Amino acid sequence: MAEIIDGEAVAAEIRADVRRSVETLREEGVVPGFATVLMSDDPASETYVSMKQRDCEEVGIEAIDVEIDPTAPETDLHDAIDELNDDPAVHGILVQLPLPDHVSEQPVLERIDPEKDVDGFHPENVGRLVTGTPRFLPCTPHGVLRLLDAADVETEGADVTIVGRSNIVGKPLANLLIQKGPLGNATVTVCHSRTENLAEKVRRAEIVVAACGVPELIDGSMLAEGATVIDVGVNRVERDGDSILVGDVAFDDARDVAGAITPVPGGVGPMTRAMLLYNTVTAASERSGVDVELP
Ligand code: NDP
Repeated sequence: MAEIIDGEAVAAEIRADVRRSVETLREEGVVPGFATVLMSDDPASETYVSMKQRDCEEVGIEAIDVEIDPTAPETDLHDAIDELNDDPAVHGILVQLPLPDHVSEQPVLERIDPEKDVDGFHPENVGRLVTGTPRFLPCTPHGVLRLLDAADVETEGADVTIVGRSNIVGKPLANLLIQKGPLGNATVTVCHSRTENLAEKVRRAEIVVAACGVPELIDGSMLAEGATVIDVGVNRVERDGDSILVGDVAFDDARDVAGAITPVPGGVGPMTRAMLLYNTVTAASERSGVDVELP
């Protein structure tokens, strides 16, 4: 039976580190500020934004809430970002995705000051990550690395298969895992919807990261005995008349084969949220010149 990697516990440790760093900053007169921009009336997006704001308040980061009518012209969103870029009280900016259909996503992501881009989606920050000089690591891939570290899983020399090649999870994670250095030096296979023989590629991996958004796509028969399985997926499904969350891995089945596995919920999700706080404090520290100790 696989060891369960407890994302809630690891995230709580990171939040404690962040809280101490916020205290250091505040003692020096710096109040870290994090702005969320919501241009949607989708209940899930509203929930995500309010969770992120609550997370901030719990560690002493000032949360700034900007809401834009989802039917407004995209220039309203651009103007809001410009204002936040210019506001010295704001150290981190997050625009909640998805945006309404009439708003192009890429120009919005590129408009955010790269030094405030705590999501790590700005092309400058993506480029820095790829070239091994990162400013902010994107939150979910960073969270995955921290979970592997917490579970004492060695990435150096390991065969890793990532299922999913999105810009927010699969691609940046692959780039991080192939970097020279700690939590890198892995040999990475990235799979996607056009991959042939997915099971064979998953089975040869010592570390499997599922990030495809397909409920329970990866089952025990696809895994090598003792593999470490990180399940990024969050999918709402109807089961026996109930609406529940499942990952991209069939947990009960995979658990019999894997060496260690993350649950859904309680695995990667809390880590993503914690790494956003981590990046915001890093941004405030860099902007103010006040050093903090964040492991
Ligand atoms: P995207 O939809 O942007 O990307 C999904 C990727 O999976 C694509 O590359 C797609 O391939 C690939 N894919 C889809 N179907 C298959 C298949 N049958 N076999 C192999 N590959 C497949 O998703 P995200 O990266 O944004 O998110 C992935 C999952 O992670 C979702 O469940 C999402 O909710 C969750 N998530 C969780 C987070 C957390 O904090 N826990 C944070 C972010 C995401 P192709 O490129 O060919 O289309």
